[in-house]
Amino acid sequence: MDYELIVGLEVHAQVLTETKLFCDCPTYFNSGDNENTCPVCTGMPGALPVLNKKVVDYAILTGLALNCEIREHNVFARKNYFYPDLPKGYQISQFDDPICVKGKLTFLLDGVENTIGITRIHMEEDAGKSTHHGDFSLINLNRSSVPLLEIVSEPDFRSAKQAAEYMRYLRQTLLYLGVCDGNMDEGSLRCDANVSVRKKGETKFGTRVEIKNINSFRFVEKAIEYEMGRQIDLIEQGEKIVQETRLYDPDKNRTMSMRSKEEAHDYRYFPDPDLLPVSVSADW
Ligand code: ADP
Ligand code: MG
Ligand code: ZN
Repeated sequence: MDYELIVGLEVHAQVLTETKLFCDCPTYFNSGDNENTCPVCTGMPGALPVLNKKVVDYAILTGLALNCEIREHNVFARKNYFYPDLPKGYQISQFDDPICVKGKLTFLLDGVENTIGITRIHMEEDAGKSTHHGDFSLINLNRSSVPLLEIVSEPDFRSAKQAAEYMRYLRQTLLYLGVCDGNMDEGSLRCDANVSVRKKGETKFGTRVEIKNINSFRFVEKAIEYEMGRQIDLIEQGEKIVQETRLYDPDKNRTMSMRSKEEAHDYRYFPDPDLLPVSVSADW
């Protein structure tokens, strides 16, 4: 039986601003641990966020380059979850009212034009970083509230190579615009790959698995290929694909289960009452 691969990518790009998304702390994190922090990005009670307008400029620029519709009505929403490196207990993101929708990116692969739909682009803040040392862990909040653009594609990819090539073109576009430094080793550009398979001729999509935080073009390709094989094997053995989040291990070239997949409603999204809606005029 022949199978078809279906992939959608969620790309996170760190925006090249000097200061964070909602405070004036610097965005470089190679300085001393927790040096670039303040009451806002460490989630102190009573501290209030103020939007960095430059991030909106860069989001618009990116949206125009990716042939998106730029939406006038923008709302920041709280995505609620607990994690030690998320001091507020929520991440400020966009949900129902993102800045850009309905775009596309066209690129050449082996001389053939490929077009991938862009579902949406939204602005959000990064979390801090935990490092684990035997029986204790350390938290560095320099990265907390650094601005990101999340660029979500339609499930339009039909091969792993196509996904890797899209990442290369997207990186080049962001570099050209000056929106992101594209440094994948430092995590400035990373992606989550949503992967499913279906039997050829089938019209419904299969259950998807999300592979988190892939940080190289080669790994995007290898992780998708491995995951495709794993899912086909399971189906051939008469088993069901579980919707879950997995991690790719480049040393072993395989993916491992991390947690069962959360749904949007698990996050209890709601508009952030500390931030006003942002109106993006046609002139802007
Ligand atoms: P979440 O935030 O829960 O990951 P999204 O609605 O933002 O959910 O979708 C994430 C990505 O999953 C998108 O890039 C989309 O194209 C892709 N996707 C959705 N369904 C499938 C599927 N059945 N197979 C592969 N990719 C999919
Ligand atoms: Mg996702
Ligand atoms: Zn700060």
